[in-house]
Amino acid sequence: MSTLAVAEDVIAKYEPVIGLEVHVQLGTKTKIFCGCVTSFGAEPNTNVCPVCLGLPGALPVLNRQAVELAISAALALHCRVNPFSRFARKNYFYPDLPKGYQISQYDQPLAEHGWLNINIDGIAKRIGVTRVHMEDDAGKSIHDGFRDSDVYTYVDLNRSGAPLIEIVSEPDIRSAGEAYAYLTEMKQVMQYISVSDCDMEKGQLRCDANVSVRPRGREELGTKAEVKNVNSFRFVKQAIEYEIRRQVELIESGGTVAQESRLYNVETGQTVSMRSKEQAHDYRYFPEPDLVPLQVSEHWLHEVKSRLPELPADRRERFATDYGLREYDAQVLSLTRETGDYFETAAKVSGDGRATGNWVTGDLMGLLKAAGKEIAESPISAQRLGELVALISKGEISGKLAKEILAKMFESGEAASAIIDREGLKQISDSGALEKIIDEVLAANPKQVEQYRSGKTAVAGFLVGQAMKASRGQANPAAVNELLKAKLG
Ligand code: ADP
Ligand code: MG
Ligand code: ZN
Repeated sequence: MSTLAVAEDVIAKYEPVIGLEVHVQLGTKTKIFCGCVTSFGAEPNTNVCPVCLGLPGALPVLNRQAVELAISAALALHCRVNPFSRFARKNYFYPDLPKGYQISQYDQPLAEHGWLNINIDGIAKRIGVTRVHMEDDAGKSIHDGFRDSDVYTYVDLNRSGAPLIEIVSEPDIRSAGEAYAYLTEMKQVMQYISVSDCDMEKGQLRCDANVSVRPRGREELGTKAEVKNVNSFRFVKQAIEYEIRRQVELIESGGTVAQESRLYNVETGQTVSMRSKEQAHDYRYFPEPDLVPLQVSEHWLHEVKSRLPELPADRRERFATDYGLREYDAQVLSLTRETGDYFETAAKVSGDGRATGNWVTGDLMGLLKAAGKEIAESPISAQRLGELVALISKGEISGKLAKEILAKMFESGEAASAIIDREGLKQISDSGALEKIIDEVLAANPKQVEQYRSGKTAVAGFLVGQAMKASRGQANPAAVNELLKAKLG
């Protein structure tokens, strides 16, 4: 990333103010106003019909599932869902927008006045959500570059009419890091509630960042620049960092920030002006005449609400209190809904949340990663992992042995007990059997026994190790220790 010539202490005199506009593609089977499928990667211009091609006279019909997903998102963001909202035409020309307008919502959006908490160095910060509204997506222009001294651009309308929500934040964000945390939390929430897969490579989550700076202590907001359509969280962060520096430098050198849209160039790490306020669109919004207003009854709202799963933030907190997990582990174990469900099932079976958490985040995740598998595809079921942890807790197998058993379970999918029975791997705590092992170890190591008796008691560790080895790791280490000392002393 390129750096501009402003010193850090000059930057620090300014407070960045950031508001994010996030577009999320709703995970419906079909488009928002027609029955065409939304599947990604189909032959260009095959999932189209008169409605999403924008042919004259074709009429839109609102997709009920899209509305339910939009309501779910709004509720998860603690918004007030308006009983009555309206679609509006947002007029502009673009080659991949055949209608000549986007169907969006304007002065009467689906939902307003929400919030999302982000976690900054262990402290929760609330970011206001101004509104959540529904709209249709445009098609996609594919720029094919130069050929025979001509530029080729193709238009694929498969995406035209894909259902979107736009989530507009309040200008509550104060750093690039906070913006990153907001986006991460947003994505997690949307995935948890099955509103969207939020696959950024497929354009299912897109973000515009509005950035301004003001001298610290000043109330009034500075003029903002909008960085459009950045396609990864990392780049959003970089673009905001650049933009803050650019604006401070501009102000410090006596200039003023122009209200404009800018593009982030990944190659140079800089933002460049795309269009200024003078060229800004006047969208000439007006109510969409082809659609009746959207009414969301109390009953419908409750129905959607009752189907919402536990939100990630609630789950993190509950995992920490119910299972005594450290904050970091609670976070890792609730990262996806599947991981959280897996952990919780296993913890209930084992009766030991902390130990279960360690086995999931440590060995199990290691094995999954090496095998390129998601937790939902784990060859070891949550039930069976819970059983394994219970065996350790009851002292029937050592932790070391459990690692080997876990690896075998991962191979075969068998229960731990089946492997233990077949291979005779139970921990040996029976003192008769242990005594026999220890006697052998003492006989084989007279020098160390001698040293111990002459006061070098540290050598006991070596002898315990030998006994463990002789038992193929199956001896109960505490019992070995005790018996050994009794025999030597
Ligand atoms: P516009 O009409 O230009 O789209 P909006 O008022 O709708 O502007 O706000 C768009 C986004 O910009 C919101 O996320 C909002 O929080 C943010 N925003 C508004 N004013 C500022 C500002 N001065 N600095 C940074 N962000 C801002
Ligand atoms: Mg805007
Ligand atoms: Zn269609």
